[in-house]
Amino acid sequence: MSDQQFLMGKVLIVDDNPQLIKMLSAILRGICTVSFALSGEEALKVAAQQKPQVILLDMQLPGMNGFETCRALKSSAETCNAAILFLTAHSESDFEVKALELGAVDFIAKPFNSAVVMARVKTQLLLAAQTETLRQYAERDALTGLYNRRYFDKKLDEEVAWHRRQALPMAVTLLDIDHFKLYNDGYGHVAGDHCLRQVAEILSESLRRPGEFVARYGGEEFCTVHPYNDKEQAGKIGQYLCEQVRKAQIPQEFSPTASFLTVSVGTVSFVPTLDMKLQDVLACADKALYLAKQSGRNTARTNSFA
Ligand code: GH3
Ligand code: MG
Ligand code: MG
Repeated sequence: MSDQQFLMGKVLIVDDNPQLIKMLSAILRGICTVSFALSGEEALKVAAQQKPQVILLDMQLPGMNGFETCRALKSSAETCNAAILFLTAHSESDFEVKALELGAVDFIAKPFNSAVVMARVKTQLLLAAQTETLRQYAERDALTGLYNRRYFDKKLDEEVAWHRRQALPMAVTLLDIDHFKLYNDGYGHVAGDHCLRQVAEILSESLRRPGEFVARYGGEEFCTVHPYNDKEQAGKIGQYLCEQVRKAQIPQEFSPTASFLTVSVGTVSFVPTLDMKLQDVLACADKALYLAKQSGRNTARTNSFA
């Protein structure tokens, strides 16, 4: 990996000695973006805001000490994934064990050796980049870049639990491209793949409200989630998504029902309850989708789940 590739990485230096921060910044400037904090309290704020991959944390800090700061960083969802390296003059094993138990990954001994600092930070930035790539693979559909079905199911579960606690309605839509087999047969599979990416982009751009998200649910099927929507709003969403695809005017000369590519949409609106099963909710959306197909395609239908 070249130094250029590390430049995406962010490192936070936490030390009460400005001279030391200056020195470390000078060492690291070429390989990452550096921010700093002069106390543990400030570190928590800067880390939550900047989301650094690596934090160099001094043990001796005024106010919260290094251990306390490490514990706080590791217990916040926003900062718990950062790799923490302690800056320390201590080399006793008790100290090291405690730091590791609190979630630190490594140590940099004071006084510093530039090459060691560079090598340790590079290792952690590389690991962070690899972890991020793996996370993307696990969450995303390779063709469209949308969430994949597994990650969608997890996010939907979280959304349902939140709406259940608030006793609020939400909506889920299933979208299926009309006559896509004919599209593939007519234009070829590569063009079909390109078309799936176009539809994915249209749907992503159509979701603008907070908390909404879209996934590729299967071959030529997509699924969207819309917080705080009752049946009337859900019906409008279905029609809107259907219209957005139609308006893009993607040519589909092989369709018997339209001259442009269209989708059919089934929407379900519901207030989640404890005994409700997600597969039943999705089956309900699927029924609405089936009705949309039966009604001639290029349209949306809504169901409510009671
Ligand atoms: P309907 O209007 O009833 O939905 O008809 P349809 O032709 O869209 O439905 P059908 O289920 O018969 O065909 C779906 C097609 O989607 C068949 C399959 O080859 C295509 N498909 C699924 N996944 C992919 C993919 O990743 N790339 C491409 N190019 N085509 C895909
Ligand atoms: Mg289908
Ligand atoms: Mg289809």
